[in-house]
Amino acid sequence: MISWQEWEQKYYMRVTRRQPVAIVRGRGTRVWDDAGKEYLDFTAGWAVNNLGHCHPVVVKAVQKQAAVLMQTSNQFYSRPQLELAQLLVEQSCMDRVFFSNSGAEANEGAVKLARRYGKLHRNGAYEVITALNSFHGRTLAMVAATGQPHYQEPFQPLPPGFVNVPYNDPNAIKEATSERTAAILLEPVQGEGGVNVPDEGYLPWVRQWCDSRGLLLMFDEVQTGMGRLGTLFGYQTFGVEPDVMTLAKGLGAGFPIGAFLAKERCAALEYGDHGSTFGGNPLACAAAYAATRFLIDQDVPAHAREVGAYLKGRLEALREQYPFITQVRGVGLLLAVQFQDERTPRVVAACNEEGLLLNPLRPNAIRLMPPLTITREEVDEGMERLERALQKTAS
Ligand SMILES: *Cc1c(COP(=O)(O)O)cnc(C)c1O
Repeated sequence: MISWQEWEQKYYMRVTRRQPVAIVRGRGTRVWDDAGKEYLDFTAGWAVNNLGHCHPVVVKAVQKQAAVLMQTSNQFYSRPQLELAQLLVEQSCMDRVFFSNSGAEANEGAVKLARRYGKLHRNGAYEVITALNSFHGRTLAMVAATGQPHYQEPFQPLPPGFVNVPYNDPNAIKEATSERTAAILLEPVQGEGGVNVPDEGYLPWVRQWCDSRGLLLMFDEVQTGMGRLGTLFGYQTFGVEPDVMTLAKGLGAGFPIGAFLAKERCAALEYGDHGSTFGGNPLACAAAYAATRFLIDQDVPAHAREVGAYLKGRLEALREQYPFITQVRGVGLLLAVQFQDERTPRVVAACNEEGLLLNPLRPNAIRLMPPLTITREEVDEGMERLERALQKTAS
């Protein structure tokens, strides 16, 4: 029989280095591979399965809606779309929503909105300031927005209109701001770029700067939103309201959907300016509505905050025990462990053997982003597996 590796190499684009695990089934915080081996999943579909795998609330919503109506196009009204829009608006500082199918697409919409805003209110300004080590997605414009040269270089020339500046550095934003600037787009905590938490004063400063210059402040909450940081939206953790916010990953708790939201005074798009065939379809919206309703009603973000602090404490204890761990960082259930050397490949391989799935964030750092519903007992079990794996790499 052909191996997974050979099968993939023969037919699939060679763009992703995969871990040698073939997942066939998931339930809660656990998944099983094709040999029946069980793993604790601290990757959660890349910070997507916020309620764990196959949460009954989401499964039921998908099954029910799939049998009634999956797709209508946006030429017509449908209840799931407006129910979800209303819920997100009522629960956030935003006034209007547009649904997309992914994070990159949500950010594209936000940037189009910023350009429209610039035309209407800023004399044609179109530039968006973004941060180095950010991640905003893989479309051409979002590669230009993503301040990481290794994503950009293979695809030059990139669409113009983005200025990448160091994160957490007010002066860099000051210097980059000009007549051309329409908006600043930031992640409240940088996810793919290293789980980088800004200094306390940074986001409030950026808010003030945008107010004083008439710029839009846009938060990419694709990873930090929907409870990941221990509040429903990441901006609430920092007490700074953006003008525009994007969501995806956890929004559908496993079902693909994205969104961009804006305050009324910034919602500059007009009839015909934007659209999407699949965006806001009844099936995705029913899944996301059920997941979000559950998240809110059960106060899952509060649980994430609490169990996240517990997990961070357990990781800090490991740091004290293993000197090759130099730092534990992150907020809520978005955490990273920094090593003094490039031992990530060995740690991740050993974790796989022990039955723990992690994200190899950097050659010298791993990321933990388990389902928000993870229990303390599952954290304990995961930490036992991680410690056994670390011991294997300790020599
Ligand atoms: C994952 C991610 C994206 C891209 O989302 P896709 O759904 O993969 O397009 C954008 N921004 C942030 C902060 C992300 O973490």
